[in-house]
Amino acid sequence: MCREYEHFDILEVAVKCGIKLYPNKGSKVEFKARCPFCGDSSYHLGINRQKERFNCFRCGESGNSVSLYAKIYGVSNKEAFDSLKENEDFQPKQIYVPKMQTETPIRSLADRHDVYYDFLNLLRLNEHHRDGLEGRGLSVNHMFQFMYRSVPMDGVFRREVLDKLAKKHDLIGIPGFYVDVCGRVQMYLNKYGGMFVPICDSQGYIQGLQIRLDIPENSKEDKFRWFSSRYFPFGAGAKPWVHIVGDTTAKEAVLTEGAMKADITSVLSDGKLFIAIPGVNAIEYLPEIVRSLGVKKFYEMMDMDKRWNPNVRRAMIKLHDMLDDIGVEYEECLWNPNYKGIDDYFYAKSKYMKSELLVA
Ligand SMILES: [Zn+2]
Repeated sequence: MCREYEHFDILEVAVKCGIKLYPNKGSKVEFKARCPFCGDSSYHLGINRQKERFNCFRCGESGNSVSLYAKIYGVSNKEAFDSLKENEDFQPKQIYVPKMQTETPIRSLADRHDVYYDFLNLLRLNEHHRDGLEGRGLSVNHMFQFMYRSVPMDGVFRREVLDKLAKKHDLIGIPGFYVDVCGRVQMYLNKYGGMFVPICDSQGYIQGLQIRLDIPENSKEDKFRWFSSRYFPFGAGAKPWVHIVGDTTAKEAVLTEGAMKADITSVLSDGKLFIAIPGVNAIEYLPEIVRSLGVKKFYEMMDMDKRWNPNVRRAMIKLHDMLDDIGVEYEECLWNPNYKGIDDYFYAKSKYMKSELLVA
């Protein structure tokens, strides 16, 4: 007697798991959906009913209907198989089915800072991250001062950290955290891990976290992700927070893209004021910050290799206009294009001459 292969309709499984499908136009085989594993909001998850496979083009997660169910409900493949087989209509009543459409309001800055501060203190900085930062000119003291930590990829350690954190804090509405179908707190996780970079305001409060990916996902330029849990049950989305580092009483500041770059370059230039926007198009919060700090002049230092990209150019013009409107003088700073980022340039410079800021 031979056992027949149990076939489950992967589309049915996906729907019952609460996965949001893209309105389908005709095909009965191929479907697009929001990936539940990577905070995807643009339907990167492909579902093929004929092959009984799913595959996310954003985070690379893939599998069949059994492993889809297992990953979402946090059970083994065998348990997933059994519950799919047992229940023709596998009783989603028994388990909490996430409501993807309701968004949880984001928590206050004070709450976010408290949670992120304790969270980072529970984490470690792996050796390869330490080495990488050292290679970019940071001392171990600086790494700890900036609270850089490695994303916990080890499941047991991660569970420990999340349980400790959940005991002390309510994590609902804190970007990056959510509640799974079994009622346990989980965190947003990308596939290959990376390093947490805190995004701080002028007082040093942690507004949110970014992850510097160990392996960029789409292009080499795509190295940073927000620690965000929008579309996850009880999660919240990150906002385009601006990072501030260095002497906040200074009336001149360097405007750059990316918090880690700003941290490193500020250190290498003896604590100059750096204001880092998350991207050239993410300048929503900038005017308010410029006003509150009373900055009168910006030295703008975006990455050299982006300057020739027409989309970036357009965004830069918008940025300059905005600074103009609020009466801030700006100067575009150019440096040797062999150095991609301003931090690379400063590091090379500080190595060969005694660090001297090229601005002013
Ligand atoms: Zn994904």
